[in-house]
Amino acid sequence: MDIALYVSGESTLAGRDDVLKLSSNENPLGPSPAAQDAFRKAAGDLHRYPATDHAGLRAAIGQVHGLDPDRIICGVGSDEVLQFVVQAFAGPGEEVITTEHGFSMYPILARMVGAIPVTVPEDTRRVDVDAILAAVTERTRVVFIANPANPTGTMLGADELQRLVDGLPPQVLFVHDGAYTEFADGFDGGASLVDRHPNVIMTRTFSKAYGLGGLRIGWGYAARAVIDVLNRIRQPFNLSNAQMEAARAAVLDRDFTDRCIALNARMRDRMRQSLIQMGIGCDESFANFVLARFDSPQTATAADAALRAEGILVRRVGGYGLPDALRITVGDEAAVTRVYDKVALIGLGLIAGSMAHAIRDGGLAGRVTGYARSQATRDTAREIGLCEVCDTAALAVAGADLVVLAVPVGAMAEVMAEIAPHLAPGATITDVGSVKQSVIDAVAPCLPARVHFIPGHPLAGTEHSGPRAGFASLFRNRWWLLTPLPDTDPEALARLDRLITAMGAKTDRMDAPHHDLVLAVTSHAPHLIAYTMVGVADHLRRVSGEEVIQYSAAGFRDFTRIAASDPTMWRDVFLHNKEATLDILGRFTEELFVLQRAIRMGDGQQLHDYFTRTRAIRRGIIEAGQDTEAPDFGRTPGARPAG
Ligand code: NAP
Repeated sequence: MDIALYVSGESTLAGRDDVLKLSSNENPLGPSPAAQDAFRKAAGDLHRYPATDHAGLRAAIGQVHGLDPDRIICGVGSDEVLQFVVQAFAGPGEEVITTEHGFSMYPILARMVGAIPVTVPEDTRRVDVDAILAAVTERTRVVFIANPANPTGTMLGADELQRLVDGLPPQVLFVHDGAYTEFADGFDGGASLVDRHPNVIMTRTFSKAYGLGGLRIGWGYAARAVIDVLNRIRQPFNLSNAQMEAARAAVLDRDFTDRCIALNARMRDRMRQSLIQMGIGCDESFANFVLARFDSPQTATAADAALRAEGILVRRVGGYGLPDALRITVGDEAAVTRVYDKVALIGLGLIAGSMAHAIRDGGLAGRVTGYARSQATRDTAREIGLCEVCDTAALAVAGADLVVLAVPVGAMAEVMAEIAPHLAPGATITDVGSVKQSVIDAVAPCLPARVHFIPGHPLAGTEHSGPRAGFASLFRNRWWLLTPLPDTDPEALARLDRLITAMGAKTDRMDAPHHDLVLAVTSHAPHLIAYTMVGVADHLRRVSGEEVIQYSAAGFRDFTRIAASDPTMWRDVFLHNKEATLDILGRFTEELFVLQRAIRMGDGQQLHDYFTRTRAIRRGIIEAGQDTEAPDFGRTPGARPAG
């Protein structure tokens, strides 16, 4: 038989129950709740035959789209309407024109009635009006185009459509398949063209923007004479009551449809920009998918395999003459932003808790698991629903493609030794420790082969600890320093970077010793000095405790604000960033001696010059947007700089 079997998008992957299906251009938000309700209500009437004239559904479509209901025909998907067209208007030996990358059902439909499909080339993935007109012969009966087109996502504008119709002989029926019309902002789907030309039919579907692909409902709009012919070959009961009621409710639920369309536009733009940033070709799409073009069919195959390995199904489009491309349905926020399948958080305190919130809110991972050493912390994390809390670290990290060590720096070696045997090959492991070289020294010896280790440090924190302290916006507009090792896999690094930036942070890269020196100046030494100042006040018996509290606004409060931080964490920071902190403290002491001497010698000029210079530096920090003029440096009450 000369009729090819239609190949639909795949929907399952062997051995996985968390597949992300981006292969069939389905609505990620599903059907409107009103449509679901109408479908359920129709269940009570299953014993009754449906209306043969589809009057209720046609009236609703006519009302919403401003069309004459008498010129509308409904079918089992728009596919059935397309089938009526070839049955009624084409026959053996007659020609049906389709285009190079056009919908694969068009030639199948032509062959069903014995007609000859004539495929004309496109112009760089766009329907070519001149190529179609040049292919018209006296045997041509039907011309099919999808606009917006599937799988290219490109579109012809009103002028080109008009030129096409003007160039067609009146006996040729032009089928404008508008399955994706709703996603093309402001487009009428060809309705005005139909109103001007008796040889044009527009077809539409409930399968895409209305999320009713599983129910099979479509419709067509054309001149009364055309609709009259199509209705004669239509089975009277082609649509069930349940189909019609659900579709009627769906088309009338305009708020829901508008929400779906707005989400699609936002996510489509994000997907396209991300592909372009990765150096992957992507035309502007007017539909609910994007076409990712790779440099070769081999790269497209490899990309497809990599996505499958991550549980993501997209559509190969070699059968559409695009072997180097993948068609990817626009998903919802979670589908588009998912960076990892499973993130495991080891340690469930402020930083891990904040990551759990940010990852979940942003839909950045399929699953987030977590483990803390104490039962009390695990119970709290469970109680607040932070993540899937596991009773062993091994369970938490099993199968995770990202593991985050969020424990004090001094505990990293012990934790790493515990989880190392359970890490999945290909996984990435990162940490959030405030010191980097010592974490590298602790983690590297236990690192299994084929696990990527990328140390990191978020410069964000508050003075609160534990799982309840976490909140999603902690990292927003904060720096997150990464200290990749010389052999760090660039892809693993780029992926981690994507997760961090999606949590709202800005990333920067530096080597570990430099990080430790920078942090010694900007965080560790200041914390030590603040702790010391509080200690000085405590030892100074001549100033009472009440006075310290009462007059603290004079400087003591601001200066020592950072001394309220977690003692374990800071003990570990100083013990593990010993050299750099001692170096900075040595320099600090020298400077202090200089000022001490200037005061003793009454050298006002020197003091003035020193303070002028340091004030300029401080103002520079504010101008760089790293801080504000506010006394709390723009931080929320209770917050402190990162460790
Ligand atoms: P946190 O709120 O105190 O939580 C620490 C977590 O680590 C807790 O779940 C704790 O478990 C676990 N833990 C503590 N000691 C452990 C040990 N010996 N073995 C195994 N687990 C242990 O701390 P955090 O503020 O999230 O800090 C975590 C990491 O982030 C630290 O490395 C810190 O340097 C870094 N960091 C902190 C900040 C900040 O400002 N807080 C900023 C940037 C980076 P239990 O609750 O069961 O004891």
